[in-house]
Amino acid sequence: MDRRGIAEETRALIARLPKAEVHLHLEGTISPETLWAIAQANHARLPVGSLEELRGLYRFESFDGFVELWLAMCSCLRRPQDYERMVDGFVSECVRQNIRYAELHFTPFNHERFGFGGRRALQIVTERLLSASGGPEVRLILDIPSESADVSGPYTAGLLEEEHNPLVAAIGLGGPEQGFPRRAFAPWFERARRAGYRAVAHAGETAGPEHVREAVVDLGAVRIQHGVRAVEDPDVLKLLAERRVCCDVTLSSNVCLKVVPSIAAHPLRRMMEAGVPVTLSTDDPPFFGTDLLGEWELALRSLGLGIGELWDLNLNGLRHALAETAVIRRLFKEFEAAARREGITVDPEAEKP
Ligand SMILES: [Zn+2]
Repeated sequence: MDRRGIAEETRALIARLPKAEVHLHLEGTISPETLWAIAQANHARLPVGSLEELRGLYRFESFDGFVELWLAMCSCLRRPQDYERMVDGFVSECVRQNIRYAELHFTPFNHERFGFGGRRALQIVTERLLSASGGPEVRLILDIPSESADVSGPYTAGLLEEEHNPLVAAIGLGGPEQGFPRRAFAPWFERARRAGYRAVAHAGETAGPEHVREAVVDLGAVRIQHGVRAVEDPDVLKLLAERRVCCDVTLSSNVCLKVVPSIAAHPLRRMMEAGVPVTLSTDDPPFFGTDLLGEWELALRSLGLGIGELWDLNLNGLRHALAETAVIRRLFKEFEAAARREGITVDPEAEKP
């Protein structure tokens, strides 16, 4: 991560501020070192022969390469302690960066298909998150992986209908976008909504603005992960702004996966100017060589955002959060107190949760 061009004082301020990160995949927080250790302990096969080669694999060049590594990684998780180790790594990264609220995407179906069991994986992850001390408030989003929707759609909807997990707040949609229209997932999203969950969906990353529209209109998504290609259609931007549908933007991920040709060409500011609420997150930090502090610095350095603007994006993570109102209000007060302490001015008219 290139951290040049940011004053030491600003970097320290960013590190100190309490932060919300709402677009992060739990499985995507595993570092190459941890994955290598888990694979060795489980005698699991990775498509590489050494840790050095595995580090190279984390620098993939296409979305397909990313998905391939992702599935190989899921197949390595075989013991309860592998899942606990994954959660512990996530929590310690949150503590290091002062992330006080996080929404984690988790894909139980992938753990079902590789034999560990999706419900079992979810239970271990939940218990570990609940027993972690000093970590952030967390809510979980259970994703349908698009590429196996015929099986994973009904599986995920059924799991949501049957489980009573205190951390699960929403259904989500992950996996590849190309060739998988968002409206095709409507029956399972409808089941999840009827069961009392909210809906979010990945859209407008590797496919165009019509996916963003379908996620909002056909899936009832209250937030969109990415949504950056909405800028290709002014009507879709207008739809997001009018309905206050928040887009959870991830800068390094978009550059790495070639969703945008360069960071300078990233449409984050255009989305903000169109009145679309946006947040800033990392998606899968070690896969994209970043962390949340790095993403804030990137937005300052390469997109010219000010600290006040970044702070407003940070508050959007709470304003559009999936957790219960009481939890969000408590965190919002904590964040407001930090802003006062640090002399960050907040528009008194700005939306509060
Ligand atoms: Zn994502």
